[in-house]
Amino acid sequence: MTLTLTVDGDRWRAHLRQVADANPGLVPVLKGNGYGFGLHRLARRASWLGVDTVAVGTYAEVAEVLSRFDGDVLVLSPWRSFLPELAEPEAYDPRVVHTVGRVADLRALGEAAPAGTRVVLEGVTSMARHGLDRHALSDAAAALGRLRLVGFAVHLPMTGGHLDETDRWAAAVEASQLAGRFEGRPQLFVSHLGAGELATLRERRPGLDVRPRVGTQLWLGDRGALRVRAQVLDAHEVERGERIGYRQRPMPVGGTLLVVSGGTTHGIGLEAPTAASGLRQRATSLAKGGLQAAGLALSPFRIAGKQRWFAEPPHMQASMLLLPSSVPVPAVGDELDVQVRFTTTHFDVVDIS
Ligand SMILES: *Cc1c(COP(=O)(O)O)cnc(C)c1O
Repeated sequence: MTLTLTVDGDRWRAHLRQVADANPGLVPVLKGNGYGFGLHRLARRASWLGVDTVAVGTYAEVAEVLSRFDGDVLVLSPWRSFLPELAEPEAYDPRVVHTVGRVADLRALGEAAPAGTRVVLEGVTSMARHGLDRHALSDAAAALGRLRLVGFAVHLPMTGGHLDETDRWAAAVEASQLAGRFEGRPQLFVSHLGAGELATLRERRPGLDVRPRVGTQLWLGDRGALRVRAQVLDAHEVERGERIGYRQRPMPVGGTLLVVSGGTTHGIGLEAPTAASGLRQRATSLAKGGLQAAGLALSPFRIAGKQRWFAEPPHMQASMLLLPSSVPVPAVGDELDVQVRFTTTHFDVVDIS
């Protein structure tokens, strides 16, 4: 019951190297399911890339990365006094750099953490997720106490064109009382800026070390290096109207029922909701008609170059597909390509050549 991610190692490593070379000061982001690869693999890969800092999403992810990467580990989620993971010994490891987005938290962290703990302050952006607002910078400077301030972070939406917003924050920081409080050259951590925008920002702010935090474009930026495959586990002929599966639904057409590896445990059929639910997209899915109108859903499994229909909702570790009789039937044991969203997929095997 295997869902396998096969990676063309030479091609993938060449892509990683190219992204690192194009992004001086790169901070690889490793979080969640490690973009499908697993945090432990990405941590080792980051060591191989030779970066001095990686970013993880949460404190729960720190331990897995600390033991496999020698440099600093920046935690992207802002520190909060009530996080249970802070009880783990790794939380205040000297290599951990904390993100703080509220003045009250800065004071509380100063009390909870060993003297000399390093922090990055975050400013709120049009994302409206976390961070200080501009008027809180002098209070933040006053609340630093014995914490060491090493940088400032802004997290930007994925849609482009946020250079001006970043630059306004850079200007605000440079003009604030924080300016004198940085240890070493102030680092400015940014996300989702293009190469041109980064270059412009560096030109405008020569006093700051601009550090792009990159996940998707780094690990998943060359999809051609990645292949996801499932196996055909069984095949049965079915007639139109025949009832099959847990739900005993009648099949709307005759053909072959394929049982393939990959189910809800792997994240199959559990797409994250997409934002694109506009009229046009709904019209497109209506136009797909046919088996969808009969209540079937399109699966991520591809056979003969096309995505095929689930015969019923995916099971925990396998899925049942309905293959119309016009399509040649793959043999038991054959491999199928699967089109997945990597950040929501758990692979049984990750095979990097
Ligand atoms: C996840 C995350 C990133 C990386 O996002 P990608 O789109 O995967 O490159 C950068 N910064 C922050 C704060 C994040 O949470």
